[in-house]
Amino acid sequence: MKYANNILETIGNTPMVKINKLTKDIPALVLAKVETTNPGNSIKDRMALKMIEDAEKDGRLKPGGTIIEGTSGNTGMGLAIAAVIKGYKCIFTSTDKQSKEKFDALRAFGAEVIVCPTNVDPEDPRSYYSVSSRLEKEVPNSWKPNQYDNPSNAQAHYESTGPEIWEQTDGKITHLVVGVGTGGTISGTAKYLKEKNPNIKVLGIDTYGSVFKKYKETGDFDKNEIYPYITEGIGEDFLPQNVDFSLIDHFEKVTDKDAAIYTRAIAREEGIFVGNSAGSAMAGVLQMKHMFKEGDVVVVIFHDHGTRYLGKMFNDEWMRDRGFLEVERKTARDLIAEHIDKPMVTIGSGELIGHAVAKMKKFDISQIPVIKDDVIAGSIDESKIFQLLVEDPKLLDKKIDEIMGAPYPVVSEETAISEVSKLITKDTPAVLVKLHSGKYHIVTKYDIISSIA
Ligand code: PMP
Repeated sequence: MKYANNILETIGNTPMVKINKLTKDIPALVLAKVETTNPGNSIKDRMALKMIEDAEKDGRLKPGGTIIEGTSGNTGMGLAIAAVIKGYKCIFTSTDKQSKEKFDALRAFGAEVIVCPTNVDPEDPRSYYSVSSRLEKEVPNSWKPNQYDNPSNAQAHYESTGPEIWEQTDGKITHLVVGVGTGGTISGTAKYLKEKNPNIKVLGIDTYGSVFKKYKETGDFDKNEIYPYITEGIGEDFLPQNVDFSLIDHFEKVTDKDAAIYTRAIAREEGIFVGNSAGSAMAGVLQMKHMFKEGDVVVVIFHDHGTRYLGKMFNDEWMRDRGFLEVERKTARDLIAEHIDKPMVTIGSGELIGHAVAKMKKFDISQIPVIKDDVIAGSIDESKIFQLLVEDPKLLDKKIDEIMGAPYPVVSEETAISEVSKLITKDTPAVLVKLHSGKYHIVTKYDIISSIA
């Protein structure tokens, strides 16, 4: 029989999955360490259990004790699950910025959750840091893990996440990409991997509104860098002791919008349902693509599960309200989509104008590109023929090159409809779209109107 003695034994040994579509422009192998298979659906189960075990060992946490922590949800989940198995109570403080689903999930394990305001200084008595410190003093037999400064946090990743990644990549990992919050994940994992191979580059993902990147690059803790942001799980307004800046080679900042868009893209393009910091990390990988070359093995950590963001990044209305939904951009390719299989009607410059009129009638069209020596050399349209016909009744027997106009302007498949429509005027009734195959298609005013209407 093969079974775990309790749910805590199922923490870790998470899968490593190749990213395919999102990274098609990156020559390196990009692998995601998908942490959603942990019992609490996040990587934080690893460090929550380790913090509890270490506190049990040295007596900071006693039987029947109460665990009090300021947590954005995932650490709380790990602590709450371990508390169920080990017989502890939990009180968590969190911020009103976090998803409501995260709080409900903690309460499902019997934890008490206190929601505090986001936009106050950490030293403010209302902040979730201050409230949890106060409760620790007030509640008897309580222990505060303090995930930000507790070395067991990073140690958990040194002992499990790092070795798993080393083994799963057969020691071939060249770059580690990790969203940084408490810093436990990046510092512990990086320490193990750099001990194995000091050439491995460790790239931290930071948000706009957080202090990490500037601090790493200048040594300056700049309060001006701090402002509220939407991205969840990463970035801080202080320096947690678990962020070991000496192990992090570079910080990349990602916008809230890109983090949100890529959270959705990972689900839609790769079928992997993960949270907002995974989206941020994926967007960061793409921003840093110039750093990765063929043969490199880039491991990016996906911290938690997408279900926790159903009311946010996976909700169209929430996305639209923040201007995060990309407006669909139609291109010339959309204009020709309906007749892309049919060859474009053309006429030779040496043919008679009467033939052009017959062709227009037959195909129910008003303009035809003219071919000379196998290239598009001009154009002819019904309004011009009509004008000249009034002056010269013998016109139909003349050759097309006597009256043909300039060739129509050429655009690519990717040209935006707005650009195509600018080219169409009274004197230029059509535009040619050059396909990747080298063939041409014609777009008229009618095509543009019917694509918009
Ligand atoms: N992503 C998510 C969703 C998280 O909850 C956290 C933890 N705050 C992180 C990333 C960052 O991990 P760490 O705290 O280990 O730096």
